[in-house]
Amino acid sequence: MSRLIFLGPPGAGKGTQAAMIAAEFSIPHISTGEILRSAVSVRTDLGLKAQAYMDQGELVPDELILGMVRDRLTQPDTQTGWILDGFPRNVSQAEFFDKLLNTINQTYDRVVNLDVPDEILVTRLLGRGRKDDNEAVIRNRLSVYREQTAPLIDFYGDRQQLFSVAGDQSVEEVMADISRLIEF
Ligand code: AMP
Repeated sequence: MSRLIFLGPPGAGKGTQAAMIAAEFSIPHISTGEILRSAVSVRTDLGLKAQAYMDQGELVPDELILGMVRDRLTQPDTQTGWILDGFPRNVSQAEFFDKLLNTINQTYDRVVNLDVPDEILVTRLLGRGRKDDNEAVIRNRLSVYREQTAPLIDFYGDRQQLFSVAGDQSVEEVMADISRLIEF
């Protein structure tokens, strides 16, 4: 059983690593960004409301995110564990998440923080070619990260539940470091 939260700036490799770890440990990879992108592409109500925020690199408002996460974490496949990639994204989402876990009688096991220097992030994001990966939007996403998401490092660090991994290594090296942290 593994319940993991992946933290890190955009471009740190959270999505890549979360997918690899999820496959290795046979647990679902829950990416709020992916759920939102698919809602945008099939034009659901949620997708239509979220799109403008995503296009600008802003966070989608909590009221749209929280129900989405609650629905996903009450699906049967999450009973074996999960990896959250891209949630929580600010302190209020983290506080909501504590309450949600309490309600569904779960806890998380580890918070894994992928640490990557800024200059590497910009290069990686520019090379990725996603719709929200142009330079102005990238800059905004990094500043949104610093202002709203980075405080979660202290939020979880204060509880001694944060484990940092150097994300500026090869994909295989990062994967090996994360695997060592979560094999318990
Ligand atoms: P990501 O794939 O995690 O980089 O997310 C892409 C975009 O989706 C972000 O820039 C946000 O606009 C939105 N998003 C993803 N997860 C969240 C979240 N937990 N809270 C608010 N917005 C989110």
